[in-house]
Amino acid sequence: MILCANFKANKTRQDTRAYMAVVESFVSANGIGDTIIVFPPFTALEHDPRNVLIGVQNAYPVQNGAYTGEIALEQLEEFGIKTILIGHSERRHIIGETQEQITAKFRFFAEHGFAIVYCVGEPLAVREEGNDILMAYIEQQFEGIDLTYSDLIVAYEPVWAIGTGLTPSNSDIELVHSALRSKTDAPLLYGGSVKVDNASTIMALDNVDGILVGSASLSANDFCEMIAQATELQ
Ligand code: PEP
Repeated sequence: MILCANFKANKTRQDTRAYMAVVESFVSANGIGDTIIVFPPFTALEHDPRNVLIGVQNAYPVQNGAYTGEIALEQLEEFGIKTILIGHSERRHIIGETQEQITAKFRFFAEHGFAIVYCVGEPLAVREEGNDILMAYIEQQFEGIDLTYSDLIVAYEPVWAIGTGLTPSNSDIELVHSALRSKTDAPLLYGGSVKVDNASTIMALDNVDGILVGSASLSANDFCEMIAQATELQ
């Protein structure tokens, strides 16, 4: 299983250190073999990779240069970062990233050998149009994306489920994941209001290889509990 914690714009450097100490010691004390990735804010990056991977929530697809306010490859290399989240719905819908920009970012970081957690997912209005429209919408989010990239992880995150406490039914998750499985061999994560109460059930679904967790990952103890659930499922 792959379990990701996305902090978004939450936690300070101090908070993140304390969090990582809890998760690192849980993972090593319990001999966890699952892949655990934490995406803290940029200000909390440390060059201290151990058995939990650290990724970035975003970066600009250049080595360095005149891109005010951005973080580029050179800054990530300083911290040994080789994992990135691309296509998250908050970047698509709040920041306004286009598929073209997302594709450029994907190509650049794939060329530099990053593990890429690539997010797709539909707004509620699209879901209400039925499964064919839903899959056609997701298909557009794969435009320009190499689904055979060897270090790809795909995260299905319905926009309406992110941070809302709502989740699709288990059969709806399985339906989308089985459609995704027919498109790629990459591990498939589900994300959107995953928490301690539903993580185990979701991770047990067909074609679900892990979870991407936002709000509920902010508690180190809750995230460790989800890691323990993943271990129990195996
Ligand atoms: C996310 O940020 O990717 C996410 C799934 O958030 P939440 O768990 O809060 O819905």
